[in-house]
Amino acid sequence: MLLKNCRFLLTQNEKRDILENVDVLIEGSIIKKIGKDLGKHGKNDTDCSRKIVMPGLVNTHTHLGMHSLRGLCDDAELHDWLDIIVKEEKKLSDKQILENTEAGLREAVRFGTTCMYDSYRLAEERARLFERLGMRGCLSSTIREKKDIAASEKFVKSMLARKSSLIKPVVAAHAIFSTDEAILKEVIALSEKYGVRRRLHVGETRKERFDVQQKTGKLPIEYLDSIGFLDEKALLVHAIWITKGEIRLMAKTRTKVSHNPISNMKLASGGVMPLVEMMQEGVTVGLGTDSVVSNNNLDLFEELKVTPLLHKQHRWDPKVITPQDVLDMATINGAKCLGFDDVGSIEVGKNADIITIDLAPHLLPATTKNIVSHIVYSANGNDVCDSVIDGKMVMKDRIIR
Ligand SMILES: [Zn+2]
Repeated sequence: MLLKNCRFLLTQNEKRDILENVDVLIEGSIIKKIGKDLGKHGKNDTDCSRKIVMPGLVNTHTHLGMHSLRGLCDDAELHDWLDIIVKEEKKLSDKQILENTEAGLREAVRFGTTCMYDSYRLAEERARLFERLGMRGCLSSTIREKKDIAASEKFVKSMLARKSSLIKPVVAAHAIFSTDEAILKEVIALSEKYGVRRRLHVGETRKERFDVQQKTGKLPIEYLDSIGFLDEKALLVHAIWITKGEIRLMAKTRTKVSHNPISNMKLASGGVMPLVEMMQEGVTVGLGTDSVVSNNNLDLFEELKVTPLLHKQHRWDPKVITPQDVLDMATINGAKCLGFDDVGSIEVGKNADIITIDLAPHLLPATTKNIVSHIVYSANGNDVCDSVIDGKMVMKDRIIR
């Protein structure tokens, strides 16, 4: 497959090169060549002379199984919201959860996501839906009680045995407040045994922070460090109510973070995640939408815009974060958060996870100097035309195959 004459190619390589009027040759799942006039290749060759070509977006936090609950509870803070939503989730049948997952996957593809982390019940069945549509991602079923551990281990073992090129299994606990230390230690043990990522919601509300402090005598991240949860396989979600000392612990242990600004604002989490301090300390941070019940869609371009707006406003400083910083979070850094080192940039030898975007009037005038800014501040999910995941054309001319 050839992406022909790309008007702008945002490589997201080490030097963040932006190339003009080049072809991208994809063979199998791999980017084979990038250069001028690479000829013709096959039926999926696509004219990109009026398009921006860039790595597909990586969404580091979703719960697709909740898709049919969109709009159910728009005006509650997290703990009240959970009381309402968990009751409704219990009523979801297996069939509904799988229909929800499929609907969520299609919405995500439509808006330019090519890799996502999804956690919910029925991990095995959801993984098959990911593979059927061709979505790359991390999947887990959330562990809350001891009885959930065996199912999670079974899923990890079966996914590793299948050697899927698209799916990585993850071991996930819900949160410190909703589980106990023995469970968290089981999560660490499973993650170590199989060499897979472990995930936890943490520091989402001020109440949670004080509750953890009261229960353990430590701040949440200090507590996680004390039980051995933090290392390069750990992915923490939200991480709003944390201190500079905790950020240093995260940096030291190479713990990853998923930032979900729209979900956090919608659930009125109050504080603002200390993203600037995390960037200064070198913590790898990706972007997430969270579920459509707290967002309310899977258009990650909205996070691309809201993230810098939130942090500029909060710090009274327009220079605290650049468009390039945000694009990195949504592509190469998001991929690192999920353990996919071979996606997130467009480079020879890497897996081909690529989207194309129409140079619509609201993205003009376009130059190599302003194109990243346009992607962050002016583009939206509906601008995405084509999506290639693992070398396969998953969406062409806005039609999902
Ligand atoms: Zn979540």
